[in-house]
Amino acid sequence: MKLTPYWLDTAPRFSDGAKGPVEGEVGVAVVGGGFTGLSASIALAKKGASVMLLEAGMVGGCASGRNGGMCNNGFAQDYFGMANRFGETVAKRLYQSFDTAVDTVETIIREEGIDCDFHRVGKLKLAAKPAHYDKLARSQEMLARGADPETYMVSRQELASELGSDRYFGGMIFKKSAAMHMGKFVHGLATAATRRGVKIHESAPVTGLKRLNGHAHELSTPQGVVRARQVLLATGTSAVGPLSYYRRRIVPVGAFLIVTEPLPIDLLDRLLPRRRNAADTMNFVSYFRVTPDNRLLFGGRARFAKSGARSDIKSGKILQRSMLQVFPSLTNVRIDYCWGGMVDMTADRLPRAGEHDGLFYSMGYSGHGTQMSTYMGKVMAEVMDGNISLNPWKDFDWPAIPGHFGPTWFLPLVGAYYKLQDMLH
Ligand SMILES: Cc1cc2nc3c(=O)[nH]c(=O)nc-3n(C[C@H](O)[C@H](O)[C@H](O)COP(=O)(O)OP(=O)(O)OC[C@H]3O[C@@H](n4cnc5c(N)ncnc54)[C@H](O)[C@@H]3O)c2cc1C
Repeated sequence: MKLTPYWLDTAPRFSDGAKGPVEGEVGVAVVGGGFTGLSASIALAKKGASVMLLEAGMVGGCASGRNGGMCNNGFAQDYFGMANRFGETVAKRLYQSFDTAVDTVETIIREEGIDCDFHRVGKLKLAAKPAHYDKLARSQEMLARGADPETYMVSRQELASELGSDRYFGGMIFKKSAAMHMGKFVHGLATAATRRGVKIHESAPVTGLKRLNGHAHELSTPQGVVRARQVLLATGTSAVGPLSYYRRRIVPVGAFLIVTEPLPIDLLDRLLPRRRNAADTMNFVSYFRVTPDNRLLFGGRARFAKSGARSDIKSGKILQRSMLQVFPSLTNVRIDYCWGGMVDMTADRLPRAGEHDGLFYSMGYSGHGTQMSTYMGKVMAEVMDGNISLNPWKDFDWPAIPGHFGPTWFLPLVGAYYKLQDMLH
């Protein structure tokens, strides 16, 4: 079993990064080479800016290359609850920004000629309890009236056409959602950015940030210093560099995945005949999809813990048990990949983007960000060009999380709380 992400293991490794010292003056320095930073770099370069991207490790080495491979539309949260909280007009606008985000991914793939197995397979949200089905139906009814008339419910009786498992009590379909190969997408974005003149420095952690006279900034790395007129922080759950403002607002939480050996087509046709992105309604969520080479990818929260080799193996065993509860016929199937990654959770599980202290930022996608991070990269290029109104998250304040100064001492408590919620509701 490999402890590397399936996506990075089965995609070409980006190798056109800049060699030599980090130096000079640029229009924009982008910090972080995940989807946010790569997409922003492309959009900024298209606008004519000179761009340098500084990545602490390798491009796509964090969440962007380690995720579940789902590019879903809609909220991760219950739509009815979001409409109650924000009002239906705002909820609809935010919901549809995820539609636009999936469209943006598709457009970039087409414009930049990226071959990454993008298919609009649709998402199947699975009710783990009878009451969850009723809750989904309440949201779907509201969505059908406004934000997303293409959604529909699938009753427990009808579910056999979608899923070869009797574990669930029906579900809901989001037709606009897509699946894609995340490693190939990372590679394609980085290659496109380079082609457009972006200098990508890997293994170049930004360890110092200084405001100079006027509006310029100085960014220090172990390989040298660069000056930039503007800076975009696209740093996800970063534990590196002078980013304590963001560390007080983002909780890094582990999420874990396993991938089976390739499976016979007739078996996959029984388990997931329409090849949807499937995810259930639990806080300790399980989600699964079929990979382009016919393996089952199965992911989930598993535990509220950090990712790391030992933690990933422990979580992988929990995931394998969950997978067998959903698909008992996979008992003797080999697990070929097991890995984890850190999710950038905000307190309300919604992204944050804007400008703070002269620095632009976009992050906090809370595990639902393959589409939104790519979209926000493009949006932030506009925001940095003065088009602030295009930012869907511009009106959201972002207070620090009380008691959170970096170390996540409270994660086990949060985990216990959600476990109890899953038992009770
Ligand atoms: C296990 C897992 C499963 C997921 N599954 C899904 C899914 O199926 N669908 C979905 O929509 N979303 C999913 N997500 C979320 C999604 O992957 C992310 O929202 C998205 O990739 C975020 O992209 P990003 O560019 O903002 O951050 P990242 O990809 O985390 O990139 C940030 C980069 O910044 C770099 N960096 C940090 N600090 C510095 C510094 N000081 N100097 C230089 N570089 C720095 C890091 O090295 C990193 O490469 C998942 C996330 C995880 C972890």
